[in-house]
Amino acid sequence: MITLALSKGRIFEDTLPLLRAAGIQVLDDPEKSRKLILTTNQPGVRVLVVRATDVPTYVQYGGADLGITGKDTLIEHAADWGGSTASAGLYEPLDLQIAKCRISVAVGADFDYESAVKQGSRLKVATKYVAIAREFFASKGVHVDLIKLYGSMELAPLTGLADAIVDLVSTGNTLKANHLVEVEHIMDISSRLIVNQAALKLKQAPLRGLIDAFGAAVKLASA
Ligand code: AMP
Repeated sequence: MITLALSKGRIFEDTLPLLRAAGIQVLDDPEKSRKLILTTNQPGVRVLVVRATDVPTYVQYGGADLGITGKDTLIEHAADWGGSTASAGLYEPLDLQIAKCRISVAVGADFDYESAVKQGSRLKVATKYVAIAREFFASKGVHVDLIKLYGSMELAPLTGLADAIVDLVSTGNTLKANHLVEVEHIMDISSRLIVNQAALKLKQAPLRGLIDAFGAAVKLASA
């Protein structure tokens, strides 16, 4: 049995065409069903529906053989395990080029970020992406107090909780709707295929087959 861990929403939707290209059809809709283990048209392949931040954990510990997760989630997970995907026991063979977005710094429209940085002010930064934010501001030589949040980060500058946020941005509409301005583009983000290193040895043929099929589908989609 091959077990693939996915999270609901954007990543799930964007993964379906890649699975189809690999000959796999998911037989349940996670938005309608309460099932957390979804069957596919292939008796040897099943899909787990887990929280986005839990995908690397399921794959690392072998609860799933492989998974699809955003590079943001992967960097944050790896930071707890020596800093790299490999040191977390994960193999990252493919950039799937799906769920693309960027991770940015945003501030309230009336906050003069550039001056604050120039003056060497200590910034209060709210984010779910503590490792990414810490590394980014350290590389700029900006002193920050990081405030860990789990959602609705846009509220932090509006309520005085923080001067800035580090968050995912796609269209920029969420920032705009909350009168926030993007002031730094930290990195581009896309979803990655991750594989349990031990599973790759034990189930080499089917996993390699699946990785190759995903690779071919990504190439086709970007051609
Ligand atoms: P947008 O308004 O299109 O810029 O989207 C921003 C909101 O969607 C923020 O709350 C982000 O956390 C979330 N978001 C944007 N892109 C992604 C993505 N690829 N994966 C997960 N969340 C995302």
